[in-house]
Amino acid sequence: MTDISPERGALAVTGLRKTFEAENAPVRALRGVDLTVSPGEFVAVMGPSGCGKSTLLNLVAGLDVPDEGTITVAGEPVTGRTEDELARMRRKHMGIVFQFFNLLEGMTVLENVVLPSVIAGRRRKMAETRARDLLDLLGIGDKASSVPGVLSGGQRQRLAIARALANEPTLLLADEPTGALDSAGGAEIIELLRRLHAGGQTIILVTHDPAVAEAAGRIVRMRDGRVVTSDPASDPAPASASASASASASASAFGSRTI
Ligand code: ADP
Ligand code: MG
Repeated sequence: MTDISPERGALAVTGLRKTFEAENAPVRALRGVDLTVSPGEFVAVMGPSGCGKSTLLNLVAGLDVPDEGTITVAGEPVTGRTEDELARMRRKHMGIVFQFFNLLEGMTVLENVVLPSVIAGRRRKMAETRARDLLDLLGIGDKASSVPGVLSGGQRQRLAIARALANEPTLLLADEPTGALDSAGGAEIIELLRRLHAGGQTIILVTHDPAVAEAAGRIVRMRDGRVVTSDPASDPAPASASASASASASASAFGSRTI
């Protein structure tokens, strides 16, 4: 079970740089990014298209490797790892949600949530219990035996979030999770993220929708591969943060349906 002391932080990023080789000239996607996120914080990363938001999220998730800089999640380094170690880090610490759901269309809704836990080594019965709890919590428990194709856009993204939460991640990382949804679907996701935050989940959300960012406690603004402002939290970690500052506490919040 992950234990995160507030001192260690949920995420610490220092001096992050990433350049992509492109046809004409290299693209300096990140030019020295520093960012610290405390356990239980809900941070929105905003900025114009191409400023490096997705690159930052992908590096934090361990899906790509920086040229320079360090990333630490719950006190464990993400940088300087082998592929196998990175895969283990991802399973243990990261729940990742993208704009376009990435659901397994040939499997049931339940199986979409069970699979990541089974891959991470959880016993099937336990994985299924957790998956059912998550689907109930996210309001799609009645769709467990359906295929994802029958769900609305908002429900599909809720399923993607349920899947991302299957392994009780230290960080829920979401890249434009409302980008492909209509306003009703987007509102469902904003409400859900608020509830997860209230339950102690640490969330880092990339968006260019101010309505979505408003749900977050802090807005980090990026431009040209750099963080330009990191507004202090207007709504810091929830009052129960000391009690819920660990992933295990947030997991028990799921169990008792307090969020
Ligand atoms: P954002 O998510 O803020 O829109 P990205 O992080 O996706 O921005 O991209 C930052 C810059 O890096 C952009 O100029 C983009 O074209 C470039 N870029 C991102 N990924 C790659 C890649 N795999 N190969 C080449 N260039 C890339
Ligand atoms: Mg992007």
